[in-house]
Amino acid sequence: MAIVERKESTSLRTILSLSNPATLEHLYDIECQNRDDVEQAVSKARAAQPAWAALSIDERVKYLLKLRDVILDEQEHIVDVVVRETGKARQDALTLEVYAVASFISYWCQQAKKTLSDEVMRAPGIIGLMKKIHMRYKPLGVVGVIAPWNGPLVLTANPSIQAMLAGNTVVAKGSEVTPYCSKLLEDLCRKAGFPEGVCTVLIGDGETGAALTQSAIDKMCFTGSTATGKKVAMACIESLIPYSLELGGKDAMIVCADADLDLAAHGAVWGGCVNTGHYCCGVERIYVEEAVYDGFVEKVTALAKTLRQGQSHGFDEDLGAVFWGQQLSIIESHVDDAVQRGAKVLVGGKRNAKEKGLYFEPTILVDVDEQSDIMTQETFGPVLPIIKVKSIEEAIDKANNSIFGLHGSVWTKDIKKGLAIAKRIDTGSMAVNDIGMMYGVANAPFGGVKQSGAGSINGRYGLRNYCHSLPIIVGAYRGMDSGYPHDKKKFERMQKLMQFTWRNPVGRFFFGP
Ligand code: NAD
Repeated sequence: MAIVERKESTSLRTILSLSNPATLEHLYDIECQNRDDVEQAVSKARAAQPAWAALSIDERVKYLLKLRDVILDEQEHIVDVVVRETGKARQDALTLEVYAVASFISYWCQQAKKTLSDEVMRAPGIIGLMKKIHMRYKPLGVVGVIAPWNGPLVLTANPSIQAMLAGNTVVAKGSEVTPYCSKLLEDLCRKAGFPEGVCTVLIGDGETGAALTQSAIDKMCFTGSTATGKKVAMACIESLIPYSLELGGKDAMIVCADADLDLAAHGAVWGGCVNTGHYCCGVERIYVEEAVYDGFVEKVTALAKTLRQGQSHGFDEDLGAVFWGQQLSIIESHVDDAVQRGAKVLVGGKRNAKEKGLYFEPTILVDVDEQSDIMTQETFGPVLPIIKVKSIEEAIDKANNSIFGLHGSVWTKDIKKGLAIAKRIDTGSMAVNDIGMMYGVANAPFGGVKQSGAGSINGRYGLRNYCHSLPIIVGAYRGMDSGYPHDKKKFERMQKLMQFTWRNPVGRFFFGP
């Protein structure tokens, strides 16, 4: 969709009017689901959960692989729905929504047995001789998922897929800006034959989202802005349920004097403009060592000028529309503020007058005042502010001088040096000579620090984020010396045992350092 206009409000449900961001034509009105609807959806999910959890891991994997088949069969339809509501380029829709979801399903299905099956472990140290721990990874129950508009299908689907594989049922809500992109997940699950109530996707706005966070769910996975994330966290604390918050960022790119400048320039333009710049791990600010600053700026400028915009939704456009009017206003105000404070616009800097829809030109800014909004707040648009730095130390200081910490990148031909710099950045994840794919790399844990998030998603053991890890100790209680009655002999035996375990080389060999 594109423009969200609050059309009318009945006592029961809010109606929103949505338009296509690329053409500004009216698409449809949506009726936001209210608190009663949310409660009903959660009850239905609760009722469906025991039977879903009772399936074997292999059976749930089968359902998910069937879902992947349906997604591959329906890929053109999915791309059409996503392009219609977001205005994003067709290639972006295919890569970031269809490919990404199919690839997440594949990885989580591959991991399911390894991560979710029961395990038996020995207790550590000397008590391991007497006690074993049986681990059960128990589903939590009903998992709530709230997604933003920039990756409306993938950000609804990825946590939902993981939650369902782990034996939970899901009630999700997409953004009011892109309701049917998120709803696709429920439709596709139905086509894949999922039992009723296993995956429900609500349509609604912030009020629907707030009702979901306050409903009888067992975990909340939220992706969206920092401001909303804090409200969601407060609601989860109130009901004492676990939550993960994947929030905004202001990712820094550091270009070292020894970088491959062609590669770095391409990375900057792609990282800044992919998905119309509405990418949580996209490039938001660039620090370049002075020795290569002019050459880098020249290359980035030349590349940005080649990007094509249009509303054909075909294969001949690089940069789609801004997904909705509110984001366009933020992008325009950040660029205007930077220009008023002395920034020079080398490319773009304004709406694309040739297009009727919400198109903003790819934009390159230099001589930017570092107090400008464009350097301190999330812009979330196709705008690249470039800053010259005297040294890498200065670049690291500036990169770290942010309230956000989601992702970032370093560009150098010396990988060892790149890794050393990456390790010094206060952020959730980093890349060396690469850009922005971090969320899509399923086996890497993904989560922001500072104002960019709490908790994380993905990672090798990511499926366990949707379980309660239930340890069951199986012991030999009667053989324990710590039972009643207490006496002096037992006290001394315990002292001897400690002496042997930690002060005797044989004890240390068997029971650890
Ligand atoms: P948003 O916070 O405005 O909305 C996100 C979702 O929350 C929407 O579905 C919205 O309807 C819902 N919502 C609004 N108020 C709510 C409330 N009080 N309680 C519960 N739900 C509520 O964010 P947005 O503008 O849709 O998305 C853009 C933001 O998302 C950017 O900051 C971007 O960086 C961030 N994002 C982060 C990641 C990540 O993985 N870290 C990924 C994508 C986007």
